[in-house]
Amino acid sequence: MGRYTGPVCRLCRQVGDKLYLKGDRCYTPKCSVEKRRRPPGVQRPSRRRPSDYSVRLREKQKVRYTYGIREGQFLRNMNEAQRQPGITGQYLLQLLERRLDNVVYRSNFADSRNQSRQFVRHGHITVNGKKVDIPSFIVRAGDVIGWKPVSGQREFAQNVKASGIKRVVPRWLDVNHDQLTGRVVSLPETGDIDVTVDTRLIVEFYSR
Ligand code: SF4
Repeated sequence: MGRYTGPVCRLCRQVGDKLYLKGDRCYTPKCSVEKRRRPPGVQRPSRRRPSDYSVRLREKQKVRYTYGIREGQFLRNMNEAQRQPGITGQYLLQLLERRLDNVVYRSNFADSRNQSRQFVRHGHITVNGKKVDIPSFIVRAGDVIGWKPVSGQREFAQNVKASGIKRVVPRWLDVNHDQLTGRVVSLPETGDIDVTVDTRLIVEFYSR
């Protein structure tokens, strides 16, 4: 199945939580979750207690929608996390957080993960001076993220520069917004991740 390209606010309403998929609009009263809390297509709230399955599914979908990845890719990340020693859920989030498209977003070089994915896909982003156009590329500690010199002069990059830092930059990134560069200082820890999720439920979802 291809990547979801429909209205993203629908995804937030589906999981009943703000996933911040739409940039600036998410911080305004126009946010669809603020206006309509109910999932799409539901006229009246159900009185039934949600099943354990639906609770776990919801947590998994929250993370998947936030990072904008397909089920198969998510499953591959999950398998990778399960092979690692330590806490599977934490490693899974760390892996997702280290994706290049996420690093571009967290460095404030894009308004949303969708936009950062597009910047990467279109070949505007470099890692250690070399163009990388794979959004799922996993960064390592010490890597330097930047813009291709030609792309850095383009209008959209200049707009990024002019708009400054809008969101908190996590501790594991050192961003120089004027130069449009960012360095991965260390690997992200659980507290650095901006997704509120119970990873235990995700692990349980895949252990069925
Ligand atoms: Fe989600 Fe943002 Fe749309 Fe609100 S505005 S529903 S947070 S994508």
